[in-house]
Amino acid sequence: MPWIRAFFLLLGIPIEESSGVFITENARRCGSPTLHLQEKCSKPALFAAAVAALLLPAARAQTPAQSPIILLDAAHGGPDTGARLTEKLPERDVTIAFANRLQSLLIVRGFKVVLTHTTPDDAAKLTSDGRVELANRSGAIACLTLHASGNTAGVHLFTSALPETESALQGSKPVLWNEAQAPWVTRSLRLASELQAAISRSRTPVTNNRTWLAELDSLTCPAVAIELGPLDEATAQDPTYQQRVAEAIAGALLFWRGHPNAVTGTGAVR
Ligand SMILES: [Zn+2]
Repeated sequence: MPWIRAFFLLLGIPIEESSGVFITENARRCGSPTLHLQEKCSKPALFAAAVAALLLPAARAQTPAQSPIILLDAAHGGPDTGARLTEKLPERDVTIAFANRLQSLLIVRGFKVVLTHTTPDDAAKLTSDGRVELANRSGAIACLTLHASGNTAGVHLFTSALPETESALQGSKPVLWNEAQAPWVTRSLRLASELQAAISRSRTPVTNNRTWLAELDSLTCPAVAIELGPLDEATAQDPTYQQRVAEAIAGALLFWRGHPNAVTGTGAVR
């Protein structure tokens, strides 16, 4: 802020820069002009202290906030190839490609993305519980499990069928591993609703249901399973179709990051 530097120099007050804000030495020493140090400080210094007091909060506000985290779990992998979309296309290859595509879109939108694995072979090193543990430790504001199917057209969203409970996020009561999602169900339903609206706006058929799915039931974050189905045989491997859906999801998550329900196991991250 060159104008601040020029202003203080005109007053003959030495200045320094801290966190992008110029602060006079006297302003530091005098602190708040309303305190008992007033009589020891010159008027210019008091004025400078007042200006610094106004500017410092702005400087703190400019400090980059921690990037919100999205957890992406490409379902299947390793020897578990999942379903077959075509004779030569296993589900595990589609889910990892879709996860990588979504990751790129989320990073440019300011998210930090945690992937449970980055190649189909990496997945062999993780058990299904290991994936959940990784997700639960990630501090994600949204955990998305990605599936693909050759049978049903469009996108299918699923949230846990566990009964909703609204308990404290960090309560002292132990929870069962396969019911850990219960306090998060309300948030997960809200996240699914945002995803559904965004995908629908992209003119892609989308359904939204609840189901019993072990990989969802153990998650301690807003969690949705997303099954990507081709619109027809031609779109099974169509990158344009995948990109359209991925962009809709990324847009929904951009909205989600400002939502009150976008919290992690360790509290809000915004
Ligand atoms: Zn699957």
